[in-house]
Amino acid sequence: MSARTNLLDFTPAEALERLKAWCADKGEAAYRAGQVIQHLWMQPVADFEGITTLPKALRAKLAEDFYIGRLALTTRQKSEDGTQKFLFKLFDGEQIETVAIPDGDRMTLCISSQAGCALKCAFCATGAMGYVRNLTAGEIAGQVRELRLLADGPITATNIVFMGMGEPLMNWKAVDKVLTILNDPKGFGIGARHITISTVGVLPGIVALGKRPEQFRLAISIHAPTDDLRARLMPVNTKYPLDDVIEAAKVFDRRVTFEYVMLGGVNDGPEHALQLAKLATDCGAFVNLIPLHPGGSQGFKPTPRERIISFSREIRKAGVEVAIRKSRGMDISAACGQLKTERTKDRAKAAATA
Ligand code: SAH
Repeated sequence: MSARTNLLDFTPAEALERLKAWCADKGEAAYRAGQVIQHLWMQPVADFEGITTLPKALRAKLAEDFYIGRLALTTRQKSEDGTQKFLFKLFDGEQIETVAIPDGDRMTLCISSQAGCALKCAFCATGAMGYVRNLTAGEIAGQVRELRLLADGPITATNIVFMGMGEPLMNWKAVDKVLTILNDPKGFGIGARHITISTVGVLPGIVALGKRPEQFRLAISIHAPTDDLRARLMPVNTKYPLDDVIEAAKVFDRRVTFEYVMLGGVNDGPEHALQLAKLATDCGAFVNLIPLHPGGSQGFKPTPRERIISFSREIRKAGVEVAIRKSRGMDISAACGQLKTERTKDRAKAAATA
């Protein structure tokens, strides 16, 4: 007997095709496939038993060949500002984080694309963990799905940012599928302009994203305006140097955002502001200044608020659009990799005192 297939690892069109073939094979009516699809993403259910439009016997038969992959919620934290952080356990015990950030009518979900991360950016908690594995499409899109299934009421995403754990463009095959699942009306139906991929600048991935016809947004983690400094903060800069990343941003056919985490005394001088403004001008980028989340950032200190404001003015004076990202969920360590780091530390502490 072959292993069961996770229906969440497919785009809605692929899943429909598979299910139709399965129905034909089993002598079931083809419209049953459409009934299943309805409940993968649009009106998610916990398992086939929840698809009450199907006869009971058919639900059991489906479960012999397919399953709907779930992620086990292990921790949930709520910040004073309404931001919520979720830690999910995967089938192999790996843990990933998802953050839900409400802002007026918007609900932005920050999702993970890998367990751990290979890139070792000096200020990032996920980088310090090292790389474990790529997530499957079902595990990435599944984070959005799980929040729709919460026992005490669904959280429905209006916006998605790939700014959780991992480097999405190093897992392009799965992320490519997830973009379809998120955007497809038979998936979550979230507008492409409301979906942002954040990358350190993985060049082949930027090209692949640029080839998609939808208007998905691209954010590039720049964090330093010179090769020397960037290589110190982001080891990936030796593989994908700043010049090449800027070139890729120039040829990307949509507007890009530069992300720039403010590291006190490291990348926040007036000369950095001018250099950054020049790069942004070269490729028509918008600059997003990110206050450092100190948890897990290993020896860096945040740039003081007044300095972030003056840095942003220096950039604006040079004719570049700039915003300071609101820091959310400070009290629950809602930055990249921080919840998992905390839990692991707790476990280590418990083990040491046991
Ligand atoms: N690998 C991708 C996406 C995940 S990280 C990327 O690097 O873009 C999402 C953003 O959070 C990146 O800009 C990353 O540099 C930033 N980040 C990581 N650690 C941070 C911290 N301690 N404080 C603020 N931002 C951080």
